[in-house]
Amino acid sequence: MMSADSGSAVLETKDDGPKIPDKKKTKFDVVIIGAGPSGYTAGIYCSRAGYDTLILSGVLPGGQLVNTTEVENYPGFENGIMGPDLMIDMRKQSQRMGTTIIDDEVVDVDFRRKPFKVLTASEEYEGRAVIIATGATPRKMGLEGEETFGGKGVSYCATCDGPFFRNQDIVVVGGGDSAIEEATFLTKFATTVHLVHRRDELRASKIMQERALHNEKIKFHWDSAVIDIKGDQKVQQAVLKNLKTNEETTLDIGGLFVAIGHNPNTELFKKQIELDDKGYVVLKNKTHTSIEGIFAAGDVHDREYRQAITAAAFGCMAAIDIDKYLTEDADK
Ligand code: NAP
Repeated sequence: MMSADSGSAVLETKDDGPKIPDKKKTKFDVVIIGAGPSGYTAGIYCSRAGYDTLILSGVLPGGQLVNTTEVENYPGFENGIMGPDLMIDMRKQSQRMGTTIIDDEVVDVDFRRKPFKVLTASEEYEGRAVIIATGATPRKMGLEGEETFGGKGVSYCATCDGPFFRNQDIVVVGGGDSAIEEATFLTKFATTVHLVHRRDELRASKIMQERALHNEKIKFHWDSAVIDIKGDQKVQQAVLKNLKTNEETTLDIGGLFVAIGHNPNTELFKKQIELDDKGYVVLKNKTHTSIEGIFAAGDVHDREYRQAITAAAFGCMAAIDIDKYLTEDADK
């Protein structure tokens, strides 16, 4: 297998611990930007295939799962696993396969010519191929309580956290497909789901609206916003304000789900690769982006599934596509 640099990617290996990255090494076969499930999985597959692989993880590695508690739906963990622990294990697994991981933030990229350049504040890295795995960030309402009660009743993923709220009252904020889908899903567990939407009509598709409007467990609060989240150790109350009458209502709840959309983390790439009108990476063929040699994996292009397992699967797919691309590239 070809290597971008004859020097070893690893200076030192502790007996059983992670490998210490050689920070002086800057040329790689594959540079992966982002360290969520898609980035780590791509790292495992690329390194295992013999490619000299770097993950630039950002300053807070692990992606959205580091903000969750228990993950019950990632296969292979009979009793569930804590989100941060899952990400640490993925990281170690990728390192064990030989991936160099540097916890630094990418500040710029240059995809105009090969090898592609990926820059941090202090270093310029080169890759024969790049995987963009920067994920997406759930939009926030901007309330202090979202920070205070993150992982303590405030959630951005019903599929992940819904089952923790059995027999409780829950608030869901938003009026799009995500909010309606999440509210409907949450009725499996909750006693009542309070759907809080800032307008008097939903943005969600008609069929999903119909289902929710006929669901007796969902109570709609139209023209309303959550203005405060209260609690002691965890969420206990949401204060709603009717935006037309200014009337305030306090609901006793066990959880609050914010489903007001996601922002893909693509700011860095917007002048270089094709993005859609919402900023998601456009895939041209499988995991290939609009530039040959630049691939994308996970929530940065996937606005529909957004699960850890699907992000990991996309990371695997991108690595397999890269293997084909680099093999052909080497033959040229
Ligand atoms: P979305 O369609 O952008 O809807 C966001 C919702 O949140 C809107 O109702 C919006 O209100 C509201 N909102 C935005 N900012 C807000 C704020 N600061 N405070 C309160 N409310 C706010 O996002 P999404 O529901 O996540 O869907 C994203 C895409 O994925 C869509 O294309 C959707 O069709 C797709 N999707 C599909 C499915 C499915 O087919 N099963 C499931 C989920 C998502 P306004 O309506 O007033 O703007």
